Amino acid sequence: MDKKSLKNEYDIIIVGAGPAGCSVAKFLSDKYNILIIDWSRFSRDKPCGGLLVEETQDFIKDWRLPRSVFSYPKYVNLKMIDWNNDLEIDIKRKLWNVSRRNFDYWLLKALQNGIQVFSGTKFLQFEKKRKNIEVLLEINNKKRIVKTKYLIGANGSFSNIRKILVKKPIRYYIATQYWIRHCNIGDSAYFIYDNEITDFYSWIIPKGGNLILGSALERDSNIRDKMKILKNKLKEKLGIVGNVFKEESTILSRPENKKDVFLGNDKIFLIGESAGFVSSSTGEGISFALRSGYNCARALNEDFKNAFSLYKKFSENLINEIKEKIDKSDTLSDPEKRKKMFE
Ligand SMILES: Cc1cc2nc3c(=O)[nH]c(=O)nc-3n(C[C@H](O)[C@H](O)[C@H](O)COP(=O)(O)OP(=O)(O)OC[C@H]3O[C@@H](n4cnc5c(N)ncnc54)[C@H](O)[C@@H]3O)c2cc1C
Repeated sequence: MDKKSLKNEYDIIIVGAGPAGCSVAKFLSDKYNILIIDWSRFSRDKPCGGLLVEETQDFIKDWRLPRSVFSYPKYVNLKMIDWNNDLEIDIKRKLWNVSRRNFDYWLLKALQNGIQVFSGTKFLQFEKKRKNIEVLLEINNKKRIVKTKYLIGANGSFSNIRKILVKKPIRYYIATQYWIRHCNIGDSAYFIYDNEITDFYSWIIPKGGNLILGSALERDSNIRDKMKILKNKLKEKLGIVGNVFKEESTILSRPENKKDVFLGNDKIFLIGESAGFVSSSTGEGISFALRSGYNCARALNEDFKNAFSLYKKFSENLINEIKEKIDKSDTLSDPEKRKKMFE
């Protein structure tokens, strides 16, 4: 990581140092002059279940993830509970259980020398000029314009780059998590379906001796009331009780149509959740962030001048996956259809 002074001009500026931003930075050729910025200071928390699905596990299998990145238990089994239909199902999957704070920090620290990293730096605006793009940043309350040939938006569900480019926002949910101290549920994570709470789903995940209790709630719902219902049902049905020591809430995108995936245009690319790459059936987004970052880097490495058409081509498989997740989410949201699927 190179943290000297900010240059006046870069080949590529990446906004957001989450999994998508770190992935594109990792795979870009070292012949490029690259700046990656994030408004957070690392290590930082990001509300997340911290479960890595098989696609993520496969993508990072050679990256030698250190022990410190994992949480306890290191692996979790998955159980699905449907309270509308009174069903409980063991899913034959083994998910990696990580500390999201440590995972993202480790991704950032592992970047090659030569990439400039500026945390505590906010992207505000851009202006397209004939030969380049002028990017307005805010560092230590001071505004600064920096030029770049390519701008990559990897800034998640809040992406202001996407907002500038696309009028219609993606449907979003309010994902809320309560952390409960010392609550032992063994080494299983539970995905809970109950339409009294949400048409998406709720979850409980063991995390380092504590428990995360979360739910992706419809945006017009009363968050406190819904979380109360969830807590009461967990007590009544699974005997789970405990004191909440941390609450967190953020936006989670849930695409409804594959057209919600927007890759950007000519010299401005979107990757990860800012592009709409997130599963509508589970809210899983890390595998999509890593893989879309890789696709974007590959396009820029192979043909710098005409990278956008390549990025579009390389994204086809991921977009089809998003479509499959949307179809599955339609089934999971409906108790009748869900019953048929689970039985
Ligand atoms: C509650 C919850 C639980 C989840 N659980 C899981 C899970 O268990 N497994 C899974 O795979 N996925 C999960 N997800 C989804 C996953 O967290 C996201 O899809 C994933 O983080 C997307 O990665 P990203 O790099 O695109 O964006 P992010 O991880 O959101 O990173 C974006 C970065 O951009 C920065 N940023 C934003 N705006 C600006 C700006 N203007 N200027 C500078 N920097 C900016 C932010 O600080 C952030 O670091 C969950 C999401 C939520 C909300």
